[in-house]
Amino acid sequence: MNFGLAAHRLHRLGHDSGLLHWARTCAPGLQALGLQLHATGGAHDALVKKALLSEQLVPVGDGRDGGLMRLVSRMAGGLTPESALDGMFFLIDPVDPTSLYPEAQALKRQCVIHGKPFVATVAGAIEWVAVELASAGLAAQAPPEAKALFALEGQSLALIAHDARKEQMVDFAGTHFDLLSRFASRVATGTTGSRLNEMAWSRGWPADTPWVTRYQSGPLGGDAQIAELVLDRRVQKVIFFEDPHVARQHEADIQLLERAVYSAAASTTCYNTPAMAQRWAQAVNTLSGTL
Ligand code: PGA
Repeated sequence: MNFGLAAHRLHRLGHDSGLLHWARTCAPGLQALGLQLHATGGAHDALVKKALLSEQLVPVGDGRDGGLMRLVSRMAGGLTPESALDGMFFLIDPVDPTSLYPEAQALKRQCVIHGKPFVATVAGAIEWVAVELASAGLAAQAPPEAKALFALEGQSLALIAHDARKEQMVDFAGTHFDLLSRFASRVATGTTGSRLNEMAWSRGWPADTPWVTRYQSGPLGGDAQIAELVLDRRVQKVIFFEDPHVARQHEADIQLLERAVYSAAASTTCYNTPAMAQRWAQAVNTLSGTL
């Protein structure tokens, strides 16, 4: 398996940086998975300096050499089958201006289009290594630190779907209804929330209690309201089924929500596609018994 790896300065500088913490915590698991990490300049150099993951790193060059741009091409399939990537770890600092560069945005978009994981927080990167291990039948090697991330009873979940993905969201939530009901609470944007509550009531959820708390519809500011919950650490997981194929009138709000997630990098995770959410949901059951 091949993943891209990049980290903004905030996450790679200092002994306790997010990148080094992730590498130390997850090194045995990443080795067990045989994961090759196609790493951009800064992330590559920070790990080499500490002799971490050296067997697994494939350098792709720094920003000026087009390191991140190459990863976008490889996410779309690359120039040869061997160079294609299966997902991306990109530890993003929302106030680093390069987080708004076209290549950074194109990278996430290609992940969403191809249903590949785009993991942009430290908590998410630890969680995702555990998900991959569980999927590979290696749950016992999941990093112990992942345990808290799978303790759903203490967390709140946000569910959001663009129009073309609402059907998939209702299917996903219905398929994993018991699992998602374990969260302490759930929130959603307006229209997604209506669909989810109808689904829950049709399954016998008490009629006087909404399954999700609804905020405004996305175009009217619901994403921004959920972003504030994320910033207040009142939502720990965001499952956001994005439609990357249409122009979105509230693009700024959508990006605002994602950037709020990056601000709460130590404790918040975000899944942008049904494929990613599905893999996580399958892994939770396996991991709950193991961790
Ligand atoms: P909606 O909002 O659930 O109200 O449709 C989702 C969005 O468009 O962000």
